[in-house]
Amino acid sequence: MKRVLLLATGDTIAHSYRPGQQGVASGTELLKTVPSGALPADVAVEVEDVMAEPSWDTSPSTMLGLARRARSAILERGFDGVVITQGTDTLEDGAFLVDLLAGRAAERGAIVLTGAMRALDDLSSDGPRNLASSIVAAADGALRGAGAVVCVNDEVHAARWVTLADATSVAGFSSAPFPVLGRVVGGRVETLAAPPARPPLVAGEPESDVALIKTYPGMDPVLLTAVVDAGARGIVLEGTGLGNVPVDLFATLGELSEWGIPTVIASRSLTLGVPLDDLGFHAGLAAKLGAIGARGLAPSKARVALMVALGTGGVDAVRDWFGRL
Ligand code: ASP
Repeated sequence: MKRVLLLATGDTIAHSYRPGQQGVASGTELLKTVPSGALPADVAVEVEDVMAEPSWDTSPSTMLGLARRARSAILERGFDGVVITQGTDTLEDGAFLVDLLAGRAAERGAIVLTGAMRALDDLSSDGPRNLASSIVAAADGALRGAGAVVCVNDEVHAARWVTLADATSVAGFSSAPFPVLGRVVGGRVETLAAPPARPPLVAGEPESDVALIKTYPGMDPVLLTAVVDAGARGIVLEGTGLGNVPVDLFATLGELSEWGIPTVIASRSLTLGVPLDDLGFHAGLAAKLGAIGARGLAPSKARVALMVALGTGGVDAVRDWFGRL
């Protein structure tokens, strides 16, 4: 028998809104919405409910707690796979954090995150189907080694690549321009593409206070020092194009680096994972002042990556970690 742990955090997948029926289904109630026969006979699911905020408000400690539970379920409790239900707004960030912290658990089992665009009592709710497919994916050996994935609409996406491109569609998750890893068809995972390379392992504890700031021409550099004064241990800047930020920030970038505060520059556009200092004059100059490139990660994913990277040490250790990401 294969053992899958379901960590249920509520949100749209578990919510009912019709008058007289409002409520949030527990993990056990959610599992009952999956018709018998929709899951392989050799899969046993155990359920744990986890208190969590709505996903747009999920605190770093909740996210880190889920990541640790998923990892220890596989490494210490012998589960073959884990399914986490989470709100879709930030499913991609939570999945990437789980991925970065999975460590050796990624080699031994599958970790699948899922959610729903429609409430449980909506017409043609997508939740029960997403849950069923995710349990199938978590029990399927095909995903061993792939790291955390998001399974929605029968598609399996790599946590590193997936994004919620359309918040109104049951098919709103996309990995483009990267491939979908696979599809759940007929009770098994059909593999379509190789997963991204595994991220570097981290031994130290992640840091939870990392700020994410969108840059714009004419912005006051005091915005950067203000978040540090408020306690941020690292900053992700959302730049433009290949990773450009306004020149007015350059002096502060140098200062932050001297103070031991790593600054990672991501972009509002899709970029390739080229290191910042290999880029042309402007982004390259920011790198010379100490800024670290996000290696093609979207800004919100760069933020969870910086949380994890800060567990390796100071600015130089973070730069080295991102260089291997
Ligand atoms: N629409 C979201 C959901 O799936 C809200 C959230 O992300 O928490 O519940």
